[in-house]
Amino acid sequence: MKKIGTRDEAAARRAALRDRLGAEKLQAILVTSTVNVRYLTGFTGSNSLLLLTADEERLFTDPRYTTQSAEEASCEITIVKKGPLLGEAIARIKKAKIRKLGFEKSHISYESHAKLTEELPASVKLTPLDGWVEEARLVKSASEIERIQESVVTNSLAFDRALRRVRPKMTESELAAELDYQQRKLGAEGTAFATIVASGAHSALPHAHPRHEAIGLNRLLLVDMGAQQRGYMSDMTRTVVVGKASRRMRQLYSAVLEAQLAAIDAVRPGVLCAEVDRRARITLRRHGLDKQFIHSTGHGLGLEIHEPPRLGRTEVRTLTPGMVITIEPGVYLPGEGGIRIEDTVLVTETGCDVLTPTPKDLLVI
Ligand code: ZN
Ligand code: ZN
Repeated sequence: MKKIGTRDEAAARRAALRDRLGAEKLQAILVTSTVNVRYLTGFTGSNSLLLLTADEERLFTDPRYTTQSAEEASCEITIVKKGPLLGEAIARIKKAKIRKLGFEKSHISYESHAKLTEELPASVKLTPLDGWVEEARLVKSASEIERIQESVVTNSLAFDRALRRVRPKMTESELAAELDYQQRKLGAEGTAFATIVASGAHSALPHAHPRHEAIGLNRLLLVDMGAQQRGYMSDMTRTVVVGKASRRMRQLYSAVLEAQLAAIDAVRPGVLCAEVDRRARITLRRHGLDKQFIHSTGHGLGLEIHEPPRLGRTEVRTLTPGMVITIEPGVYLPGEGGIRIEDTVLVTETGCDVLTPTPKDLLVI
């Protein structure tokens, strides 16, 4: 396969989006999500807009990013020296005599939308677009998969290194800091989300915040972490025991692992996302634990930690090769503790590849 560089790839993505504009009888699209701008241009700055018309591809940013935008973006660039970027974009839209403009309905503020309506001529028709770029981002290219893989490896290595330093007296916060530090040392730009470290009963909260409290002995210890590397995310949860694991802990753990493996087993092209979720749920039901599984089985990830598709009961999307998703069933028993096991998984032509290399047998340290 020909390896496409990021610049060419961004240009191809813009071309595909402009083709769609033509097909849907729009003359331009204003991209307001900075993540989508990054996907379409390569520009990583925090203040940006992208205007795509039949004969123009223009990125708007501010003077802080003059050098960076020229290095990263493969399209025309306007550095807006004064006022909001949107003012300049509106001037371009008027100049190009655009009559039908699409905008990203989930990524525009009320204020910006009002500005568009007020400052553009009344003859300009504004069309809300629902996740056009997100749709394109669903299936990852070879270079994106490579980056996700890199991020996954960093994440797992950081987990290994930090875990070697775990002691019962260490606090949840200290372990979270150690995990984050190791990720950075291994090449991550940062974490994909705030690292979760939760010990004992605290692990019954699926999105627990690390506390300044000791991890302790003979308790469940849940770690949910992700790296961001070259823009791409990874996501993994492991539940371990420091000290000795009780029979009950082992039983719960093996039920969750069985559910996770059953869900992974269902991952292949053409399968409904809801079906993958169902597999995890029916496995837990057999163990009498389905009521304790209080979230969906997984989510897509890429430039963002949560992207479509959602692997939940009501998701009607089907899996396609190139999608990267998480599989993360869990059970949560208030007052007792929680167990979750999560891997990052790539949908392939024939099934799937579990990208996460970290073992899943119950780790007792
Ligand atoms: Zn996670
Ligand atoms: Zn996740």
